[in-house]
Amino acid sequence: MAAARKLKTPSPKTPNPDADPYDVIIVGGDFVGGTLALTFAKQAPKGFRIALVDAAPPSAGKTVRKDPRGLALSAATKNLLEAIDLWPALEKKAQPIRSIEITDSPLNASLRPHLLGFDDEMKSGEPGAYLVEAGELLRAVCDDVAKEKRIDCFAPETVSEFDIDAFGVRVHLASDTTLKGRLLIAADGKRSSLRQRAGIKTIGWTYPQVGIVATVAHERPHHGKAVQHFLPAGPFAILPLNGNRSSIVWSEDPERAQELMAGSEDAFVAELTRRFGHRLGEITLEGSRQSFPLELQIARAFVADRLALVGDAAHAVHPLAGQGLNIGMRDVAALAETVVETARLGLDIGSSTTLERYQRWRRFDSAFSATVMDGINRLFSNDNAPLRAIRDLGLGLVDRAPGLKRFLVREAAGGTGDVPRLLKGEGL
Ligand SMILES: Cc1cc2nc3c(=O)[nH]c(=O)nc-3n(C[C@H](O)[C@H](O)[C@H](O)COP(=O)(O)OP(=O)(O)OC[C@H]3O[C@@H](n4cnc5c(N)ncnc54)[C@H](O)[C@@H]3O)c2cc1C
Repeated sequence: MAAARKLKTPSPKTPNPDADPYDVIIVGGDFVGGTLALTFAKQAPKGFRIALVDAAPPSAGKTVRKDPRGLALSAATKNLLEAIDLWPALEKKAQPIRSIEITDSPLNASLRPHLLGFDDEMKSGEPGAYLVEAGELLRAVCDDVAKEKRIDCFAPETVSEFDIDAFGVRVHLASDTTLKGRLLIAADGKRSSLRQRAGIKTIGWTYPQVGIVATVAHERPHHGKAVQHFLPAGPFAILPLNGNRSSIVWSEDPERAQELMAGSEDAFVAELTRRFGHRLGEITLEGSRQSFPLELQIARAFVADRLALVGDAAHAVHPLAGQGLNIGMRDVAALAETVVETARLGLDIGSSTTLERYQRWRRFDSAFSATVMDGINRLFSNDNAPLRAIRDLGLGLVDRAPGLKRFLVREAAGGTGDVPRLLKGEGL
């Protein structure tokens, strides 16, 4: 068997895949897989071993890939990042969201009255969400993974196949290395090859929309206000970043999106200016624009024999409410709690009892969130006059119900339902 390639630096020891089996082998070391590895490293009992496999070369410090997305992290996700000591690296770069304005006025309207606003409900207590640049979050995760002695990284590396038996899992990597473990975790994104190899089917559909993302600098301050503008082709969000900058998430009809991506920067900024209006002053583009296909996808099962799915491998949702990664972080917290408790009792962390507990905790919640996002997108991404009248009336009523608005803010912050301990800021 070829020696394992340990590519992270600095490396205090060389991993020996022939030694005792790993407790968990996580495939996919991005936001979700990386955070899960760190959570195990910091919360699991002594002796717990973690292998982290990723197809991309290891990245840390300045080599982290460019990603122009701004990610809205809920207060619950922030609690998890605090519990694993990752938040201090992000805190100064994170912009709290202080208020939210939702409108569906036409772009050419001289006034854009809000349909629903969250202002006073968000003033008291902790902010319900923070905006963090995706590159900054990835850097914090990768830098910490590189320092963590309990994590052995195998990257760039892919899984060629895996075999499961009653005692464990053997994962064969493309380099010919074989890793032995008790539980295999798929964090390899929405095209998860582990999910496909395990024969787990998905349900869902592709949206007739493309998500365009970019960072914009503006003359005037945003005061922490996020704006969601529902337009017939899809929602257009302006999300506050630190400084006089905002991140945009713009869902657009695919043909128009292609024109916008292929067109000049001046034409792109002119269209953005029409959408921003004048309240933030003159705007300029910072960095590049990028587009993403949008889809809804839920795995029919979140577990199989000695296998658990987390993050986009389990569910991908429309980005209109900035919840995809937050739902993935709920998986991280729920799986870590389930596995760590089982490990402390000296029981089998890959048993069907353990995995069923994780699945019961996460599957319904994820499917429900995906359905809500889908419903909102369908309700708003159209120009149907009767539908518009009904939804405007409904949201007008919500706007006048402070108790309901406070509940919605708590829900978006991730503080309702059966919340795993790490999301409440408690250790395991
Ligand atoms: C436009 C847009 C805006 C968004 N905004 C938000 C937001 O504001 N807030 C929010 O919560 N969510 C948001 N999301 C959702 C969020 O980006 C995703 O939910 C999140 O990135 C999923 O992370 P992940 O780690 O599960 O998967 P990924 O980020 O897809 O990572 C998968 C990892 O697996 C690795 N990999 C893949 N295949 C293999 C293989 N065969 N072997 C080994 N490794 C492999 C890859 O290299 C990668 O590192 C947004 C999404 C989009 C498209």
